[in-house]
Amino acid sequence: MEDAASARKVSLLCPICEAGEVTVLYPEARDYITKDPFQVLACKKCSTSWTHPVPGNLEPYYPRSYRRYNAIIIAILKLLYRRRVARWNRLFAKPGAALELGCGDGFMLNALRSLGWDVCGTERTEEMARFAREHFGLPVFVEGSQQIPHGKAFDLVIMFQVLEHLADPLPQLKRACSLLSEGGRLIIGVPNFASWQASYGGDGWFHLDVPRHLFHWSPDALREAASRCGLRVESISFASIEHDPYGWVQTILNRQFGNGNRLTRLLMRAERWQAKDIATLMLAALLSIPAFALSLISWACGRGAIMQGVLARR
Ligand SMILES: [Zn+2]
Repeated sequence: MEDAASARKVSLLCPICEAGEVTVLYPEARDYITKDPFQVLACKKCSTSWTHPVPGNLEPYYPRSYRRYNAIIIAILKLLYRRRVARWNRLFAKPGAALELGCGDGFMLNALRSLGWDVCGTERTEEMARFAREHFGLPVFVEGSQQIPHGKAFDLVIMFQVLEHLADPLPQLKRACSLLSEGGRLIIGVPNFASWQASYGGDGWFHLDVPRHLFHWSPDALREAASRCGLRVESISFASIEHDPYGWVQTILNRQFGNGNRLTRLLMRAERWQAKDIATLMLAALLSIPAFALSLISWACGRGAIMQGVLARR
């Protein structure tokens, strides 16, 4: 009895600042794949928001098609990642050692290596590590079974589209901090819950993505979490061409036309195309122009849907 009560109490404490003033922001945000409902809770004190409850087993929420793209999208992503990585490279006088926590298919590490960086990555499972190892020959360590070389310090640690997937992000942030060399930088990319797109989309925001996204970060929440992990935020920027305009298109389709992320499910090949989807596709093409305009304006105003933080040790 006492255990159940204390569990309930713990779940209502902010996981970042531990304040007890928690509000239910969205009482019923649905996973667009399983249709399971989740709550989105928010801390009144530090503005951190998170998904509740955290499923005991997340595997059913990650279909095989999740983040599996066709050849054209992969070619575009490679190009965008090369540009992004070149900007990170300019933060340093010369290439050093880089580690990507949650490196996925390894496109960014591969791009960094081509600029002269000594790179390695981590992934959750052998299956997820295999592509980057076999396709690019990258050293990828599986979390829990293989250790990053002991004592190695990294000039650049990357957590890109990772922190929002963690139920308990502070230990991972502290670990990232401990892996940084003197003068090293930690790059964090996460959806921005304080964006215009998130405010407009509500529980139909494309990048809310419950329960895969367990944390919903804002610039304030990121600063709060960073300060608790011995880090400081040097800069936050918002331009993300691969996420932002598409996020607007899908979010507008969800809000105005009850699309329920069907366009995304079709593109992930999780659903079969039907005749009625032609109308959605045409609508999406039409929306892409205002979506680009909205993205550009939101970036300029610091309210883009994806944010990238550059952090350093305090
Ligand atoms: Zn808080």
